[in-house]
Amino acid sequence: MDVPQSEELINELVERVAGEVGVIVYTLRPQREFTDEGLSQELGIEINEVRKALFSLYELGLAEYRRKRDEETGWMEYYWKINYSKVKEVLIRELLRTKRKLEEKLQMEDSAIYYICINGCMKVKYETAMEMNFVCVRCGAPLDYLDSTSAKQKIIEEMSKIEEMITTIRSERNN
Ligand SMILES: [Zn+2]
Repeated sequence: MDVPQSEELINELVERVAGEVGVIVYTLRPQREFTDEGLSQELGIEINEVRKALFSLYELGLAEYRRKRDEETGWMEYYWKINYSKVKEVLIRELLRTKRKLEEKLQMEDSAIYYICINGCMKVKYETAMEMNFVCVRCGAPLDYLDSTSAKQKIIEEMSKIEEMITTIRSERNN
């Protein structure tokens, strides 16, 4: 199976959490501390956009800042640093979170029998379907027994893919 490398994964994660600007900032690989203002000028991107992306990276654990008051203006300045050494840790944490969600989904599928409207209006538990006399209250079409075998199979496959990714990431050397 083709398992994406951590570099690819981290870019996906950064884009999802911190958007396009986040990816730009992240892939810049700044070696030294920088201010959001300086970066905004350098990139020609609105300072608010840069700040938003940086705080998203911060929430993810991939950025750090310290605040310093500018002697002249009296304004607080943020000095930023991207934590490239935390990449593995952050990725594994996010992958485990996704895996937990899949586990919950699987448990939900296992814990009940579902019926769906043949037109796709709704998915209800057996008890509810019975109360509705197996007729969709929205469109009047019959409710059909939902065979969740393939859905469950998909969840299980996704979970094992995630496990593989975690193993790969753990075995990658730190850069
Ligand atoms: Zn319906």
